[in-house]
Amino acid sequence: MSVTPGTLYIVSAPSGAGKTSLVKALIDAEPQVRVSVSHTTRGMRPGEVDGINYHFVSREQFVQMLEHGDFLEHAEVFGNLYGTSQRWLQKTLAEGFDLILEIDWQGAQQVRHLMPQAKSVFILPPSQEALRQRLDNRGQDSAEIIERRMREAVSEMSHYVEYDYLVINDDFDVALEDLKAVFRANRLQQAHQQLAHGALLAQLLD
Ligand code: 5GP
Repeated sequence: MSVTPGTLYIVSAPSGAGKTSLVKALIDAEPQVRVSVSHTTRGMRPGEVDGINYHFVSREQFVQMLEHGDFLEHAEVFGNLYGTSQRWLQKTLAEGFDLILEIDWQGAQQVRHLMPQAKSVFILPPSQEALRQRLDNRGQDSAEIIERRMREAVSEMSHYVEYDYLVINDDFDVALEDLKAVFRANRLQQAHQQLAHGALLAQLLD
């Protein structure tokens, strides 16, 4: 039996909106959904693991991969390079998994251009105050960096109009249900169901 190819999802959010926790909870609950591990040149934060959160590489290694055409998309964010590797992405989709790219608006624009069938979700905080508080609570960055990230967040959020779905992360459980609903509704689309249930449809019309 042939495998129904998975759907590619782009998930973007300003730093502090809770994107990583939401995506983690989603993939823990939905075994058919995977998340792409990006390559980055930024330093590892406390608690991060190489190969799990990111593939941490030097700028030289990144540029070399870029020159080899290894990235589907890449962007410079906060002075660091980030990129999505092509090969694993194509293989995972072909195996029938839905795949999430946690990328910024610049990467999202590149992916939409290359793969117009991709669905995109933007996660928003409930207010600027809540966002600032979440950035403060991390306790990992200086006040100066937090202010810079607030400015970057507002600039990132201005791209919400480019996305198919908006999820507001006020209550975590509600936001998670909203995110799950997006994935579920997409799997129920007629074209997708036709591929997934070809035998049933043929039998019903026999
Ligand atoms: P952070 O360093 O806080 O993990 O991520 C900073 C920003 O880079 C976030 O907006 C995140 O979505 C984005 N990002 C992470 N990986 C990629 C990637 O592979 N490509 C692009 N374009 N952006 C990425």
